[in-house]
Amino acid sequence: MEKPIRNIAIIGAGPAGLIAAERLAGAGHRVTIYERMASPARKFLLAGRGGLNLTHSEPFDAFLRRYREASGWLEPALRTFPPQALRDWADGLGAETFVGSSGRVFPRAMKASPLLRAWLVRLDGLGVKLASSRLWTGWDAAGALTFRLATGETETIRPDATLLALGGASWPRLGSDGGWAPLLAARGVAISPLRPANGGFTVAWSPQMKERFAGQPLKRIAIRCGSEQVAGEAMIDAEGIEGGAIYALSAPIREAIARDGIATIRIDLRPDLPAPDLAARLAKRRKGETLSNHLRKAAGLAPVAIALLRDAAGARLPEEPDALAALIKAAPLQLEAAMPIARAISTAGGITRDECDAGFMLKRLPGVFVAGEMLDWEAPTGGYLLQASFATGVAAAAGIQTWLAARA
Ligand SMILES: Cc1cc2nc3c(=O)[nH]c(=O)nc-3n(C[C@H](O)[C@H](O)[C@H](O)COP(=O)(O)OP(=O)(O)OC[C@H]3O[C@@H](n4cnc5c(N)ncnc54)[C@H](O)[C@@H]3O)c2cc1C
Repeated sequence: MEKPIRNIAIIGAGPAGLIAAERLAGAGHRVTIYERMASPARKFLLAGRGGLNLTHSEPFDAFLRRYREASGWLEPALRTFPPQALRDWADGLGAETFVGSSGRVFPRAMKASPLLRAWLVRLDGLGVKLASSRLWTGWDAAGALTFRLATGETETIRPDATLLALGGASWPRLGSDGGWAPLLAARGVAISPLRPANGGFTVAWSPQMKERFAGQPLKRIAIRCGSEQVAGEAMIDAEGIEGGAIYALSAPIREAIARDGIATIRIDLRPDLPAPDLAARLAKRRKGETLSNHLRKAAGLAPVAIALLRDAAGARLPEEPDALAALIKAAPLQLEAAMPIARAISTAGGITRDECDAGFMLKRLPGVFVAGEMLDWEAPTGGYLLQASFATGVAAAAGIQTWLAARA
């Protein structure tokens, strides 16, 4: 007997929705992708401006730990579609990848547009339809999906299965604004509050720090928050601090702010030098030399790092070498609040694990599947965000096939 062809609606043309479309259309289903924007994958294209860090090459167990509490939930999907599968897929679309010095994986072109172009051609060849400029607005009283068109008209459809791949709530002007959260909450779906992840935090800088050093990087530093330490870079912003090392600590920083009202991080401005070596260097100060010059020459600190030390010390900087070295190794900085989600790279929170079955179907809404950043997981930058979006898209596509097959 021939396999019946089913109509599948995928809402959201980001990486999670597009990879699911590829899998389902490849299996012979009739797939339409509905997207609110005029063109697909705007956030994926923006990620391409930073080189398109597709995934990471570190050993799988270390890779998995980056998803923190959600690693157990995501493990089956990530094992089925691991980093190497994503690299092979990109290679298959002519976007050969390479491993950068930090272990991050990028396409050689260091951008998303050639990959996306080849992908859309492949999807078109598989018969996938893209219905753009359609904002999903929920369900009508009869249970049909409803969309608002640019003209203001409403369109309704009744597919055999639906995949929601609507993204998080950061960078809302690219299309993903978390507007789905109240629609699903109204149906009883538990959603952990959407919060900024991989974003900056506000700091009450001195006027000098704000005016002279906003936009300047702190390079080759290490930051500690509680028991976690991360090496990398940070960027001074007029309102606070952001950058890779801060992003990687965003979960513990957010937790500390929620618990204590403020998070104190410790910045090691010379992680390569033990405190005694630093103190020995600082003990040799030439007569008449200003402290700033001494710090610049003996400790190799940039003016922005020296300004940070002054802000951290509050009053005057200590002159005594051991005290100065201790401050350079662990300059305290108080972070007051997360910067707005609109400026964050990704979103923490989302549809909780308990709401989904093993095939990423919503238990309360049979036939409705979910994938990508709208799920309740978070990870640092480094390719982990795209990898999990792809892997859950693949897993939801498999879930849809299994569910439909049981109803044939
Ligand atoms: C500046 C920036 C740089 C980044 N760089 C990287 C990187 O290098 N590496 C990495 O791993 N990750 C990176 N990310 C994160 C990564 O882009 C996202 O995690 C990923 O795109 C999420 O995929 P998704 O398919 O779940 O959602 P999205 O890509 O957000 O796609 C969701 C789609 O759904 C559509 N949509 C939303 N609501 C509706 C609705 N109601 N009706 C119809 N359509 C709707 C949206 O318009 C969007 O097209 C970056 C993010 C940003 C902002």
